Amino acid sequence: MKLVSYWHDTARAFSGGAPGPVEGHYDVAIVGGGFTGLAAAHRLAKAGAKVVVLEAERVGWGASGRNGGHLNNGLAHSYLSAKAELGKERAIAIYRALDDSVDTIEALVGEEAIDCNFRRAGKLKLASKPQHFESIARNFEAIHAEVDPDTALLSAADLKSEIGSPFHGAMLSKKSAMMHMGRYVAGLATAAARHGAVIHENTGVTDRKQVGVRHELTTSRGKISADNMLVATGAYTTPNFGYFRRRIISVGSFIIATRPLSDTEIAATMPGNRTCVNSMNIGNYFRLSPDNRLIFGGRARFSATSDQRSDARSGQILQASLAAIFPQLAKVEIDYCWGGLVDMTKDRFPRAGYHDGVWYAMGYSGHGAQLSTHLGMIIADAMLGREDRNPLKGLEWPAIPGYSGKPWFLPMVGLYYKALDRIQ
Ligand SMILES: Cc1cc2nc3c(=O)[nH]c(=O)nc-3n(C[C@H](O)[C@H](O)[C@H](O)COP(=O)(O)OP(=O)(O)OC[C@H]3O[C@@H](n4cnc5c(N)ncnc54)[C@H](O)[C@@H]3O)c2cc1C
Repeated sequence: MKLVSYWHDTARAFSGGAPGPVEGHYDVAIVGGGFTGLAAAHRLAKAGAKVVVLEAERVGWGASGRNGGHLNNGLAHSYLSAKAELGKERAIAIYRALDDSVDTIEALVGEEAIDCNFRRAGKLKLASKPQHFESIARNFEAIHAEVDPDTALLSAADLKSEIGSPFHGAMLSKKSAMMHMGRYVAGLATAAARHGAVIHENTGVTDRKQVGVRHELTTSRGKISADNMLVATGAYTTPNFGYFRRRIISVGSFIIATRPLSDTEIAATMPGNRTCVNSMNIGNYFRLSPDNRLIFGGRARFSATSDQRSDARSGQILQASLAAIFPQLAKVEIDYCWGGLVDMTKDRFPRAGYHDGVWYAMGYSGHGAQLSTHLGMIIADAMLGREDRNPLKGLEWPAIPGYSGKPWFLPMVGLYYKALDRIQ
């Protein structure tokens, strides 16, 4: 079993990084070379701005190269609770932003000819318990009537042709998609560089100063200055960006990938070939890869670290969950196991905007594979003084009391959700 991301291992790495010294003055400096930073760089460079991306590791090294590969439209939250929390108008705006995000990626993949197996597969939100189906059905009725007619409610009997596991029904979101995340992130970086973005890998931003309206950034490989700065560091935000560290909780999420499944095994497990997520609080998400592996993820443990040792421990828990959902795959070989950090906010709504001279987009709370590209572009447009389409504009973002970047409370949160899963 390889303890590396399947997406990293099966995509050609980006090779267009800038070779020279890190120096000079730019219109925009972007910290972080994941989907958010690269999409913003692509947009800005295409509009003729002089833009630099500073990435501490390699392009796509963070969550963008480690995720489950689901491009889900609509809200990750219950739509009804989002309406109650944020009001109908904002809940619909965020729902539509996620819809638009999938469209944005589809358009970009076409425009830049990125070969990444993008496919409108549809997503199933699967009811793990009968009472979960009732709440999925209530949510579906509101979504279908108010915001997304491309949805359907499937009974347990309908699911027989979709999935080889006894779930109690599901909501189908037809606009959701999937793709190969490694090929996409490398293709996006290549396209951004082709339009003129300078991308420096292995270049961590270690210090920054604001002198009037000008940003001066010190990196591990030299200094640059810029008129504008975008922080696109998500769950990997370093302590020198304290404002964001006090608002982002980095939580581990873990994934295993089986060996390629045979046609018979697929027919017995995932004949619908969609992205799937179950309804438990400590739940699982899964899909097939382009070469027919089952890519099966979940929180597994409430941990703030993801490294090979911690990923392997989580992998064992995931293997047991996989066997519980698909007993027919209980003994299947696991070829890959990896993990990454998810950038959670306290209310699990993302944030994007401008604070104290700095632009930002982050806090996707485990559902940013599509939104990050879209918000990266929206923030780039705002920087260019174009129409501000930011659906999150004005959404308050208070610091989390008693928190400075080390989530000491995660084990307790894990116990709480475990208890909820037993009783709900
Ligand atoms: C295991 C896992 C599964 C997931 N599954 C899904 C899914 O199926 N669907 C979905 O919608 N979302 C999913 N997500 C979330 C999604 O992947 C992220 O929301 C998205 O990739 C965030 O992109 P980003 O560009 O904002 O951040 P990232 O991709 O994390 O990029 C941030 C980058 O900033 C760099 N950086 C940090 N600090 C500095 C610094 N000081 N200087 C320079 N560089 C710095 C890091 O090295 C990193 O590369 C998952 C995440 C994980 C971890």
